[in-house]
Order: sequence, then structure tokens, then C-alpha cells
Amino acid sequence: MEECIFCKIIKGEIPSKKVYEDDKVLAFYDISPEAPTHFLVIPKEHIKSANEVNEKNCEIVAHIFVVINKIARELGIDKRGYRIVNNCGEDGGQTVGHMHFHVLGGRELQWPPG
Ligand code: AMP
Ligand code: ZN
Repeated sequence: MEECIFCKIIKGEIPSKKVYEDDKVLAFYDISPEAPTHFLVIPKEHIKSANEVNEKNCEIVAHIFVVINKIARELGIDKRGYRIVNNCGEDGGQTVGHMHFHVLGGRELQWPPG
């Protein structure tokens, strides 16, 4: 996955502001935040999108949600709540082809999104 920017972030070839890392996932702040707290959680395995989640690789999704919960508590956004967003594919607004979960918090978020 030579040209995947998130794979490059995982390898440290592109800098990021890390929030959390373990052997399976990386969390880092979004470069263009849409809320006072806005970070992304990605699997270290290159999975293109939620559309590519299957019986073999689905455990990572549960792990990502456990990690989100942990980070939210650490950053103090757990009490008032936050939004987890996964944009999937072109119509879903996905611009980076490496599955990622946005976590947005720190302000009241509007619903529905545009
Ligand atoms: P999406 O539109 O759901 O594919 O989201 C991609 C997100 O990645 C956007 O919110 C971008 O601001 C963010 N992004 C792109 N490049 C970087 C980067 N180098 N570091 C951090 N966030 C990035
Ligand atoms: Zn990748």
C-alpha cells in the first residue's frame, strides 16, 4: 500500500499527533478538525473501508470501539458524549482509502449531517 497516507502515518513516514497506539490500532488527531476534539482511529492492517469488513477481519472493529471508549474517557469527552463517524466509499464521503473512525466531541453536534 505504497501510496496510502494512513499506512504512511502508521509507519511514521508522515508525522501525526498521536493520541493512542497499540499493536493493532493507531489513533491520531485529524489535521482539519471539525470539533474541539476530533481524532481518527485506524487499524494498522490496511482495510480499505467498512465495506471490506468480513468474518475474518471484523474483530478489529470491536477493538477500535473499546479503544475509542478508553480515549474518550482520557480526553474527558465521555460525560457529555461524542460522535463516531465512519464514511464509507464515494457516496459516503470517504476521502482516504484506509478505513477510519472519526471521533468528534467537545461541542454539541448537529444532526442530521449534510
Ligand atoms: P474521510 O473524509 O472520512 O475519508 O476523512 C479523512 C480525514 O482524514 C479528514 O477529516 C482529513 O482531515 C483527515 N486527514 C487527511 N490527512 C491527514 C493527516 N496527514 N493527518 C491527520 N488527518 C488527516
Ligand atoms: Zn493504508
